[in-house]
Amino acid sequence: MNYKDYIALVPDWPKEGIQFKDITPLMDHGPAFKSAVDDIVAYAKDKDIDVIVGPEARGFIVGCPVAYALGIGFAPVRKEGKLPREVIRVEYGLEYGKDILTMHKDAIKPGQRVLIVDDLLATGGTMDASIRLVEQLGGVVAGLAFLVELTYLDGRSKLKGYDVLTLMEY
Ligand code: IMP
Repeated sequence: MNYKDYIALVPDWPKEGIQFKDITPLMDHGPAFKSAVDDIVAYAKDKDIDVIVGPEARGFIVGCPVAYALGIGFAPVRKEGKLPREVIRVEYGLEYGKDILTMHKDAIKPGQRVLIVDDLLATGGTMDASIRLVEQLGGVVAGLAFLVELTYLDGRSKLKGYDVLTLMEY
């Protein structure tokens, strides 16, 4: 299946000069969405994964069906102030300024094998912060999976040493 047929390229959004890759047509197409989720599930199968982690908000959309298919749990990475119980936090750089991502302290048990899933790899900042959260909790990052990779932003350079799956490249 050519997944790119289901990605809408939106010029000048959210600001001028940026071409946004909109994954909602893929989500909206049952066979394409199922096939993409199945590809990530197949990638996870031989990795002995205990838990799926996904950053808000599109990491939930892709990560939760993968967790369901594998019959394992899902742990969310969220912006500060969104999770109700005790959290750990990491700061990460944005184009302008900083942001904070958090996870519940008990979301991962030490030694658990984790697959982190998100919709898209751009600069790698979100995934780098998610990896740091998982590793602070003692999790083992066994793989990283994305629908889309923007190779021209070289996010992979932040993910050296990790096993990465991407289903499409731009
Ligand atoms: P990064 O942290 O720079 O790698 O950006 C990745 C994060 O930003 C992911 O969580 C994406 O959901 C979001 N993102 C950045 N660019 C796009 C895009 O073109 N389409 C969809 N999501 C994007």
